[in-house]
Amino acid sequence: MSFLQRSRTAKTLAYETYSLGTHTKVTVHCAGVIEFSPLQPVQEFGQVKPTNPTRIKSIIYSCGVHGNETAPIEICDALVTDILNETVIVKHRVMIQFANLLAMDIGQRFVSENMNRLFSGMHSHSADDSIEAPRAALLEQLTFDFFARGPVGAKRYHYDLHTAIRAAKYPRFVVYPYLDGRSYDKEQISWLAGAGIQAILLSESPTTTYSYYSAHVCQAHAFTVELGKVQPFGQNDMNDFTLARDFLFNLVISEDYVAPDAPMPVLFRIKQAIMRNHKNFKLHFSDDTPNFTAFAKGTVLASEFDDTQQEFIEYTAQIDNEAIVFPNADVALGQRALLTLEAIEPTDIPID
Ligand SMILES: [Zn+2]
Repeated sequence: MSFLQRSRTAKTLAYETYSLGTHTKVTVHCAGVIEFSPLQPVQEFGQVKPTNPTRIKSIIYSCGVHGNETAPIEICDALVTDILNETVIVKHRVMIQFANLLAMDIGQRFVSENMNRLFSGMHSHSADDSIEAPRAALLEQLTFDFFARGPVGAKRYHYDLHTAIRAAKYPRFVVYPYLDGRSYDKEQISWLAGAGIQAILLSESPTTTYSYYSAHVCQAHAFTVELGKVQPFGQNDMNDFTLARDFLFNLVISEDYVAPDAPMPVLFRIKQAIMRNHKNFKLHFSDDTPNFTAFAKGTVLASEFDDTQQEFIEYTAQIDNEAIVFPNADVALGQRALLTLEAIEPTDIPID
């Protein structure tokens, strides 16, 4: 039984720590969260090779924040299994989190509420019976502690792995969280390109997503990574995910990871975040419109009827080729129903 299967069956796992051979320390934190770290490598003559702490990376892969986004869960399950079988040996500290085990069981995005709106403390504003809020609080704490326990100078990475609900012009894309004034990272963009990422959305304000938490609070290179379209467990064509899978495996086993050459992803900046404020909210394009579909300036994208003021509100494209992403008319009131995007050039943003 794999670690994921054990986690999903038991729902609680006791904290335990043990070694694999002389090379890897394993720490089970709880159901769905496991950590690996290289033991000091011992050379042939019995001498201990000094490890340069600045070369050790601290890497988190989280998956299943949305329980029905199966492909990344399957990839992380395979990675954990290979590490535990000692066919993959990590060179860095790696924590793998299977986030929403209960939502996986029912094959849904979530049980009570969208977990990816609960980070940076938002979990404390949830209803007492929220399934996701205590889990988000726990994951956030484990992430914070994992990075804090790493060697001084260790670079920090967090890839929060998802699949999108709908088809997309660029099926594989990332959201680059707001960096509080820091520059975008050239190396990260090249790694993501090598992982098959075709588009990067630059989020230019704080959010309550998991990746923003890690970027902001833990100063990690952190991304929300969308690896393709949602399919049920076992129905993913893993060929679609080869580049991403290779990246996730190679990063943890390479002392110095070098990305394969790949075209620069298309960059988008968020133009509008359209919120659903009223019950009568409607999107003005069909349900199966792919992500990144572009609309002409002035096109009505969404509308809602304010029942108290009896006012009709329209949301329109403000520029030509304004593209849509993450449309969802069924979100709770006060939440984001649609993002719109503007394509930009790499020269438009600070990249170091
Ligand atoms: Zn998701």
